[in-house]
Amino acid sequence: MRVSPLTLHRLSVYLRCLRQMEEAGVHRVSSQELADRFDLSATQIRKDLAQFGEFGIRGVGYDVARLTEGLHRLLGLDQQHRLAVVGMGSLGSALARHLGPDGTFAVVAGLDNDPRKVGTRLAHLEVRHSSELPAVVRETGATIGVLTVPADAAQVNYEALVVAGIRAVLNFAPARLKPNRAVPVKDVDFRINLEELVYFLK
Ligand code: NAD
Repeated sequence: MRVSPLTLHRLSVYLRCLRQMEEAGVHRVSSQELADRFDLSATQIRKDLAQFGEFGIRGVGYDVARLTEGLHRLLGLDQQHRLAVVGMGSLGSALARHLGPDGTFAVVAGLDNDPRKVGTRLAHLEVRHSSELPAVVRETGATIGVLTVPADAAQVNYEALVVAGIRAVLNFAPARLKPNRAVPVKDVDFRINLEELVYFLK
């Protein structure tokens, strides 16, 4: 089944809300309660969740733990995803520190072309030279590439990630990549979020 990016985004939001509820010791919730608590639409929640099977019971609501587990499976979060970060500067290093080896998203490799950084230890990693990318991907089983290089180095490193067998790329560099159809790219740009936010301050 093809799921739109908007639906995927909403499912992630539901999951975040459900985790908060689980932590607060809530075991059962109706779509209306979920909507009221987190400022969502109950109709939208019911419609979204109904697409993927029977998570709830009419009049009884959703079992929070079961729904959380179901959404995890649906979003592919019931397994670990291994990340290779190319560009171990400020941002790449911060990501490596933040996404340790045991989480759902784990940075398993950090690469750079600066000989002063290659071989240094950072959090749980030893920085490797970016020319070693194919071997590093094979050794670590990384499936997601993260680009934290300057804009003018983004396309060439994206292509290197594709050749190395990476299956999807998160791109932080302010560059429009020409993506290979088999290896989707998701751009992240804090500036865009800030611009959206500033619009509401007008
Ligand atoms: P940085 O200069 O600290 O780090 C960049 C790293 O990339 C350096 O370690 C450098 O040696 C390495 N590098 C340069 N060319 C390379 C190449 N050809 N191959 C491999 N490694 C190479 O920069 P930063 O502050 O960490 O930012 C990294 C990127 O992320 C920049 O493009 C920046 O504009 C972008 N950025 C994006 C956001 C966002 O919201 N998307 C926020 C901050 C920074």
